[in-house]
Amino acid sequence: MKVEVINTGTELLLGEILNTNFQYLSRQLNKLGFDVLYQTTVGDNAGRLKDVFKNALERADIIITTGGLGPTRGDITKEVLCETLNLGTYLDLDTWNRINNYFCKRGLCMSGNNEKQAMIPVGAEILTNEVGTAPGLAIRHEGKLIVLLPGPPSEMQHVYEKQLEPFLINHFTKQGIIYSHIIRLRGIGESAVAEKLDDIITSQTNPTIAIYARRGEIIIRITAKCMEVNEAKTLIAAMEALVNTRLKQFIYGTDDETLASYLGKELLRTKSTIAFAESCTGGLASSLVTDVPGSSEYLLGSAVTYSNMAKHKLINVSEESLEAYGAVSWQVACEMAQGVRELFGTTYGVGITGIAGPGGATEDKPVGLVYMAVADADGVKWAKHVFGGTRTDNKMRSALTAISMVIDRIKEKETENKDK
Ligand code: AMP
Ligand code: MG
Repeated sequence: MKVEVINTGTELLLGEILNTNFQYLSRQLNKLGFDVLYQTTVGDNAGRLKDVFKNALERADIIITTGGLGPTRGDITKEVLCETLNLGTYLDLDTWNRINNYFCKRGLCMSGNNEKQAMIPVGAEILTNEVGTAPGLAIRHEGKLIVLLPGPPSEMQHVYEKQLEPFLINHFTKQGIIYSHIIRLRGIGESAVAEKLDDIITSQTNPTIAIYARRGEIIIRITAKCMEVNEAKTLIAAMEALVNTRLKQFIYGTDDETLASYLGKELLRTKSTIAFAESCTGGLASSLVTDVPGSSEYLLGSAVTYSNMAKHKLINVSEESLEAYGAVSWQVACEMAQGVRELFGTTYGVGITGIAGPGGATEDKPVGLVYMAVADADGVKWAKHVFGGTRTDNKMRSALTAISMVIDRIKEKETENKDK
């Protein structure tokens, strides 16, 4: 079944918002085995939307739109579709009541223009929207299926999950599924991973295997195409076992695990606590750590010490070091790590200081230069990195690399203790 997704909204074409609706839908539809072959983004313009519909009707079996089902004059998806297919509409009293109740429950009055959302194309199936006003609609037309979904992502996802997915599974013979599993690695580069898996990659059929470098980690994605999930899982497990035999020491997690969640596990396992002193990352490392539920068990506090004054006053970095070596130096990173560890009384203290860019570089200190240090009872270790990406990139890579560095330190200490 060939699918075309049409995302409407001028704001998408202006680049004001990211088309997350498409990402969500294509993932879900691929999982069900549908071939998503086309995606079109079109502004809120009747003429162009009509052309897009005509085009899609020529080349796809299933067309799914998002957006343009709202109450305003700018919301035209349903109206344009009706015009394109020559469909009449009627006022659906159940939908009208549901919209009216939606407002009443919130102590509001339904306004006249919401009535437009209760106008249903003749022959359409209503995909009830329990979290917003515009219902989704499924229309069969000359052997094709056209589905209209609301634009707000939470409503779109709700209608998809509760209504459209069961509808698709019911109405289409089983397509088979595409199932993916992700293996996450740290402490190894993309090319080294590729080398170790070269023979597997060149001979792959089903499942397929792909390697990606993400900020601070390497991801191996194993994907199987099968009729049943269990069959896919079996194929994937065999491939995962093979990957494990070659890369075990670098694998830290799978699927939704993150470096921060792994750090959390390691801190809990070793009954340790942590605090960050962040300069160029502005609190990002702490933010990533606190994305993990239960992180209050081990993150006792952090300090965003952006200025020299903050570094000195809050975490006791010496004015002499700041003066002699500059804020971006291994010496200051070490003092930050030690200072914040002392301030919060944690097992580990982490200092991150660098030049996020795009300005602030000097001859010997380029954009992306970052010093980070981890202090514990045995002393302090530091590392230098030059990331050299965009500001956002440098911040994220610094934060993730610092998190990874603490994981290394925890493991190192364990080996040291064993050797003692
Ligand atoms: P609409 O129903 O087209 O007026 O969309 C309502 C709101 O949903 C928009 O203002 C956006 O904030 C959001 N939205 C619409 N389409 C998308 C999309 N493709 N991806 C992410 N958000 C969207
Ligand atoms: Mg819109």
